[in-house]
Amino acid sequence: MLSWDQTPELAPMRCCRAWVEINLAALRHNVQQLKGLLPAHTQMMAVVKADAYGHGAVTVAQTALQSGAAWLGVATVPEGIELRSAGIQAPILVMGAVNHAEEMRAMAHWRLQPTLVNPKQALVFSDLLSRLASDRPVTVHLKLDTGMTRLGFPWAEAVEFVRFVRQLPHLNIDSLYSHLATADSPDPTIMTQQHQRFRQAVTALGHHHLLPSRLHLANTAATLAAPALHYDMVRIGLGLYGLYPAPHLQTTVRLQPVMQVKARITHLKEVPAGTGVSYGHQYVTDRPMRLGVIGIGYADGVPRPLSNQMEVLVKGQRVRQVGAITMDQMMLDLTAVPNLQEGDVVTLLGRDGPHAITPDDWAAMTNTISWEILCGFKHRLPRIAIADPAMALGGVSSPLET
Ligand SMILES: *Cc1c(COP(=O)(O)O)cnc(C)c1O
Repeated sequence: MLSWDQTPELAPMRCCRAWVEINLAALRHNVQQLKGLLPAHTQMMAVVKADAYGHGAVTVAQTALQSGAAWLGVATVPEGIELRSAGIQAPILVMGAVNHAEEMRAMAHWRLQPTLVNPKQALVFSDLLSRLASDRPVTVHLKLDTGMTRLGFPWAEAVEFVRFVRQLPHLNIDSLYSHLATADSPDPTIMTQQHQRFRQAVTALGHHHLLPSRLHLANTAATLAAPALHYDMVRIGLGLYGLYPAPHLQTTVRLQPVMQVKARITHLKEVPAGTGVSYGHQYVTDRPMRLGVIGIGYADGVPRPLSNQMEVLVKGQRVRQVGAITMDQMMLDLTAVPNLQEGDVVTLLGRDGPHAITPDDWAAMTNTISWEILCGFKHRLPRIAIADPAMALGGVSSPLET
């Protein structure tokens, strides 16, 4: 990630057509707010998979660790290697399944901690470590399926699973965990059932003196929803980035959005009524208009289905986007905003004056979830880390305030 201070020649105000601002003060605030919900013995894992939900994994991981997170969670081995290569020493859990021997070798080498989901996988991993003749045991985490029906061994067979893995050489079980399917729903029925199953597994393991020392179950939604789900660690993704998993979970803490997306007006033009705009001429002007082109498009992470629906903020005003969003550019109706010039900055996600546009707004318009909107910003736009709160343009905002 580019840092505002280190790369003045790339400062967005000077050269970029579009960029993502990452407000590290907001990130620190969110970590502290969420940690404030937890009892002293409960640790926080910062979930930084998918390049920290589009925010930049290394910078987010470093900032979260400095602010009170103790663990990092990723989905894949390369994501873990990226963090280790940047010098990060904190424990890293790889939450995705790892089946390939090369990946297992890499995990041992980079001290990444795998999720094991069945006895066979544990056996393969243990055998591989025997052949590597490594005397350092690998720390592993066992996953139960309590109702997500994704990764994990059946919860009712937890005792057999743990007992089997315990007797394998080279493996050191750190934790037992599971993942909730409906923690963001206002209806707690299924979450309660999953919690009961997890508790039953824990009770049975305790009975057989097989209980791993660390238990964890909660994502952001469960962390906000119920202290009983906190256990020894919570795995926080979305909340780190300042978004709420659901409107009814907005009451416990005040989170600040970390990401803002901005672009520059690259071209202004006056057009008469009846002018077709962009591919397909889906939009035709019904009056004379001043249109602005901005240099950001669907290849940068703006979903194309927002075409002719989304608004952006410019000089504290909301304006409409018109015509099909293209790969690298899109058009705006700027007729109502006086004194604009090419080079002026437009806010696509974030706050400008009284207005804010959030990933939740985009998610609602495109029939998806804010998680997917954030993850869209991972490739092409430079990310500018803003470390000084005075430079942060966004205040506290929430999905319902817009
Ligand atoms: C992605 C993920 C999380 C984080 O979920 P959020 O809803 O973003 O907090 C936690 N646990 C697991 C297993 C995950 O895959």
